[in-house]
Amino acid sequence: MVVYFDGKYVDSSEAKVSVFDHGLLYGDGIFEGIRIYGGNVYRLDDHLERFEMSARAIMLTLPLTRAQLAEAVCETCRRNNLNDGYIRLVVTRGVGDLGLAPWSCANPTTFVIASKITLYPQEYYDNGLAIVTVPTRRIAPDALPPTVKSLNYLNNILAKIEAKQAGALEAIMLNAQGYVAECTADNVFVVQKGEIITPAASAGALKGITRATVFDIAKELGIPMREADLTRYDVWCADECFLTGTGAEVIPVVKLDGRVIGAGKPGPVTARVLGSFRKRVLVEGTRI
Ligand code: PMP
Repeated sequence: MVVYFDGKYVDSSEAKVSVFDHGLLYGDGIFEGIRIYGGNVYRLDDHLERFEMSARAIMLTLPLTRAQLAEAVCETCRRNNLNDGYIRLVVTRGVGDLGLAPWSCANPTTFVIASKITLYPQEYYDNGLAIVTVPTRRIAPDALPPTVKSLNYLNNILAKIEAKQAGALEAIMLNAQGYVAECTADNVFVVQKGEIITPAASAGALKGITRATVFDIAKELGIPMREADLTRYDVWCADECFLTGTGAEVIPVVKLDGRVIGAGKPGPVTARVLGSFRKRVLVEGTRI
């Protein structure tokens, strides 16, 4: 496998980050998870825009322009003959000394991995996921903006472990006020009386690219959609529930904490969104 690493395309065995890299020592860095479908990188510009905003938010000067980042992403796919897969773009603060201070890091470290991902087996797309609410809360937006896609995922990882302990593959994380924020790596949506509702970024949700796609799909299909605070009650009493993410795509949820949601099987609105999503990913995107 060929990896883009600081301006060079190298074999993955040579793509090595220093033990002094602050991305590793402190989680000081940002990333994007991007999909390629049929040779088209899905919503690359949107991903790069979010990436630039993450960089700005943590005062990290990106070493590459948007066009250069796009080229690194596309070229990494080309060099791996990857037409369908998952791309990870990472920029860390770089190599520094053992203190926290980011200004000890002279140059950011940049790498791009183009590979494959399967988050959930097909049966869950057909029959829906059973998820749980976990005790670990989403970090408050005033502590770390959830809109920053940073290398600090420990909070979500603890939630993922709690989900596994409870026998579930994904977990709803609440914010400090007890409202639904998102799942460990996915945005969450409910369908109530024909309307799609999802938590806002201010409630702790990442502004997902797939989430933005659902807004577009809802508009196109004439399905009302809005952001609102959601409690667990809203999920228990929803007609349908589904999750979205670059890795997970659109996946139905049929149970929360052992309670059946709606009819207990993937619902019609979820099916329409998923159908439209599958069509869009094949035609929208940047040709590599
Ligand atoms: N929330 C979190 C915490 C995430 O890490 C992700 C990305 N997997 C998402 C939501 C979904 O965002 P996107 O659709 O941009 O992948």
